[in-house]
Amino acid sequence: MFGFAKFHVLNCVGCWGVRAVAKSFPPPGISFLQPPPGVPEVSRITGAVAVDGPSHCSSSSQPEASKHLKDIHVSARLMEDFLDLASDNTSKNLETCGVLGAFLESGTFYVTNLIIPKQESTSNSCQTVNEVEIYSIQNEESLLPIGWIHTHPSQSCFMSSVDLHTQYIYQVMVPEAVGIVMAPTDTSRKFGVFRLSEPDGMRVLKECQEKGFHSHAEPANGTPIYEDCSNIVFNPNLRLEICDLR
Ligand SMILES: [Zn+2]
Ligand SMILES: [Zn+2]
Repeated sequence: MFGFAKFHVLNCVGCWGVRAVAKSFPPPGISFLQPPPGVPEVSRITGAVAVDGPSHCSSSSQPEASKHLKDIHVSARLMEDFLDLASDNTSKNLETCGVLGAFLESGTFYVTNLIIPKQESTSNSCQTVNEVEIYSIQNEESLLPIGWIHTHPSQSCFMSSVDLHTQYIYQVMVPEAVGIVMAPTDTSRKFGVFRLSEPDGMRVLKECQEKGFHSHAEPANGTPIYEDCSNIVFNPNLRLEICDLR
């Protein structure tokens, strides 16, 4: 069990950026929730408040099974910090990816760790290498793999078919797992927090054997394959440890 008061600096080489330490957190009653810059001032992302995106990203038809997920608290500065770390790659039109680590307490996930693994990137792909380093940190810190984050340096904000297959692996491990896409050059939507719909999107990906970029047939009942997450809470009081392994 990951106690509330537990805190220590990661001692792996390359770790840095302990942002904030809350000795007793989450604080009793988080009284205000501050979204990162560019996010409407609400505590949650919902399909209704997320900036305009492709219609297939809408959560308005969110299946019933997706509505009973545990909340995920995310540091209000995670996305901004990740974009800073990615900026060199982004300027070269290369993707950057990171892994999110969380602990579960009283039925809520708290994303406390961002791991930037060694990786190989192109303008539309990012492949982690030496994953054993990621697993070792997750084990040391008792972190749950709650999702991942990556940039689309020149593409719009959406989940590609390859992204959906990556997301499937995360969601099999943790049903609440999210895929965050940061699209700094998308003028209509700078980021999205996505998940595969349950059960339809998960079924499509489970049955798909294709590799590389390809298309997926939409579920016959009209449900989108993936959707915006509605269970994300931006929490300005949550600490964030960043471990850049590159
Ligand atoms: Zn992508
Ligand atoms: Zn596929």
